[in-house]
Amino acid sequence: MRTVIGFRLRLALFFVGMLVVVQLITGALVYGVTHRALVMDGERQLAANAKAFDAQMEDVSARIAGNVRVMALDFALRQAIAQGDRATVLSVLHNHGRRVGASRMQLVNLDGTIAADTADEHASGQTFSFVELMQRAFYQQAAEMAAVQGHVYWIIVVPIYAPQPVGLVVVYVQVDDQLLAHMQELSTLRRDVVLEVQRAPSQWEAVAQGDRSTPFALGLERVTGDFPAQPSLRRIGQSDYIVLAQPLQHPFNSAPVVVLFGYSLDDALRPYHKLALAWSALLALGLAAGLLGVWVIARNVSRPVEWLATVAKRIEQGDYRIPPRLPRRDEIGALANAIGTMTAAVQQREERIFHQATHDAVTGLPNRLAIEAEITLSIDRGVARGSLLMIGLTRVPDIIKTVGHGLCDRLVRDAGERIRRVAGAAEVARATDSNFVVWLADTGSDDAVQAATRMLDALAAPYTEPDVSIDMVPAIGIAIYPEHATMAVALLRYAETAQFAAAGSSKAWAFYQAAIDPHRPERLSLMGELREALTRGQLELRYQARLALSSRRLDSAEALMRWQHPLRGTILPDVFIGMAEDTGNIQRLTRWALETAVTQARQWCSQGLMLRVAVNLSAHDLGDADLPRYIADLADSHRLPHGQLTLEITERAMIGEFDSALRVLHQLREQGFHIAIDDFGVGQSSLSYLHKLPVDELKIDQSFVKHLTHDPNDRVIVRSIVELGHGLGYEVTAEGVEDEGALDYLASIHCDHAQGFFVARPLSPGALADLIITQSKPDHA
Ligand code: C2E
Ligand code: CA
Ligand code: CA
Repeated sequence: MRTVIGFRLRLALFFVGMLVVVQLITGALVYGVTHRALVMDGERQLAANAKAFDAQMEDVSARIAGNVRVMALDFALRQAIAQGDRATVLSVLHNHGRRVGASRMQLVNLDGTIAADTADEHASGQTFSFVELMQRAFYQQAAEMAAVQGHVYWIIVVPIYAPQPVGLVVVYVQVDDQLLAHMQELSTLRRDVVLEVQRAPSQWEAVAQGDRSTPFALGLERVTGDFPAQPSLRRIGQSDYIVLAQPLQHPFNSAPVVVLFGYSLDDALRPYHKLALAWSALLALGLAAGLLGVWVIARNVSRPVEWLATVAKRIEQGDYRIPPRLPRRDEIGALANAIGTMTAAVQQREERIFHQATHDAVTGLPNRLAIEAEITLSIDRGVARGSLLMIGLTRVPDIIKTVGHGLCDRLVRDAGERIRRVAGAAEVARATDSNFVVWLADTGSDDAVQAATRMLDALAAPYTEPDVSIDMVPAIGIAIYPEHATMAVALLRYAETAQFAAAGSSKAWAFYQAAIDPHRPERLSLMGELREALTRGQLELRYQARLALSSRRLDSAEALMRWQHPLRGTILPDVFIGMAEDTGNIQRLTRWALETAVTQARQWCSQGLMLRVAVNLSAHDLGDADLPRYIADLADSHRLPHGQLTLEITERAMIGEFDSALRVLHQLREQGFHIAIDDFGVGQSSLSYLHKLPVDELKIDQSFVKHLTHDPNDRVIVRSIVELGHGLGYEVTAEGVEDEGALDYLASIHCDHAQGFFVARPLSPGALADLIITQSKPDHA
């Protein structure tokens, strides 16, 4: 902005400056030319004056000479001269002298002696001072300027004939201020005229002045130095004068006399002062007008430019309100309108970019960034609690690998819509390729589980297209605010961790557990230690007895693994089974469990306790094609009837390489081992689907059993499962029996087995044997 105004201002100032410079140069030129013209004019005038002065003096001479000649015709005078009658001569001289304006008259004899003098009685007989004038007088006009006794006189000498020359009359006309004034009256003689007499070499003194009051006269009363022969410029007093010095003819015996003429340049310039004043005023006016113009333009430009700068700043800060149109038709108006249009365009583009940056292109749902911001926002607003569901479609990576992105995108879009439909007011986002996030503000863990179940139901039906039907196989991880974490990023990460755990569990959903968080440092060390646990004998099996409901006998037990950690104490399988799977240790663990359980079963057998023992297999085990032969060899080597060993698998164990898993199961079953589906009810598969699997037993998941006493819905579900299971020829076991009510209900609907804390806790082999022996005593029943 500054540069724009700076530019305009500079331009305007340049023009004003130019105006001033041109005016000043013009002024200087005009002054120079005028000055020179005046000087020349002055010089001309002075030269003319000098000539006029000479001419006037000549006139004076001629007039006086004529007068004297008339006087010489006077007979009485001639007679008086001849008779030497001095009195008559003096009287005549007096009379005539007065008439011609002379201040002194003399009669001089032809021999040069003074015969009579009107000013000095005693001069008779003295010699006349200026004899050279006498000789000249006989053949031409003889008049010269002479200094006599401190005064200057115009001395005119006229011979007197009778008819022979008899003498000469000398007329003294004093050249004083009066005479000069008189001459000024008669002619154009200047006021600035001074007559100077040389008193000593280079010392001059004024004896007559045209006007004593002028600086010229005052400045030249006494002069040291000589006068230039040409007119020249001199500073006299406070003023500039052109001075012309004209030497006057003087008799030999007289001091030199000079007449000085002055031409005052100041006076000559005076008429031009007005002009200069008017011109200066004009210049000042122009300057003022120019500066006003500059100021107005600058203001006119700077105001809207400043305003535009403010608008630009606002846009920079993300305020896209469209600025009002400027009612101007000039470039600035156009610029303002362009900025308005641009603002709208930038706003649209920014909205689009923002939408792209915060939304997933496939589902149109907010992305991970957006949901993270949303969660942070609701935390900042102070929600008391909240739950974060991370819904993973666990087959998506496989789907992309096998059928590509096109179909996968359609599947994910469909999943997104299903989730949206059941999410209600909750925030839904797509966090990664295969993960959705649902944020339920103001909900606790119970609501979270309900929501998770709703989501799982919504995603249960496979995605179908003509010729394609794909199971989404969802798994949901749940992180609770503020229990698990207080920050959005952590909640997201924890929910994801939980989702991994859920993918491996039978329920298909799981809460975050710090203990199994793969990113926790202690888990890393646990994973390392797990390798050693087996060789160091830190693993044990506990056995949880199961009650046969028809006979009320403990006829079987499930082997559950425990890790006796030297520092951390007993670690439950939920913590380390997942780790073992992740680190590739699960097969060793499974084989160890099988061997230990088979050995134990054999031992009980030897003690007379015929207990069927169940061992849990993990999903990874079903990928092991050697497993059926291994187990068969194991049972055979311990001489354990195959029917005494149950192998528990979850439905989710069938995910992945379904065909090979199915083959392993078939082989196991063919060899006579008992196969149980663990955690039945929380998976997605239907009973009809299960029917394709070689299965002997269903274990109803704890979540349906725990609340049997109080929850009629659960009772309906459990009864249906029992009935359907029996209908398909399966044995049915209920897990998680925690009270008598549940046990009684299960007995009433003819469920086969009950397992749970109410029946027995997982126990060491010895403790279990004791329990069974105690229970089988007749008095106990
Ligand atoms: P599961 O197979 O469903 O085992 C039953 C779990 O429920 C056991 O937990 C048991 O202690 C617990 N339980 C039994 N009755 C009740 C009850 O009345 N109320 C409640 N609240 N819980 C009850 P545990 O021992 O912590 O085992 C957890 C899971 O770890 C097992 O679930 C199983 O999936 C897995 N697991 C345990 N041992 C092994 C093993 O040797 N190999 C493999 N692959 N998995 C194992
Ligand atoms: Ca089990
Ligand atoms: Ca179970």
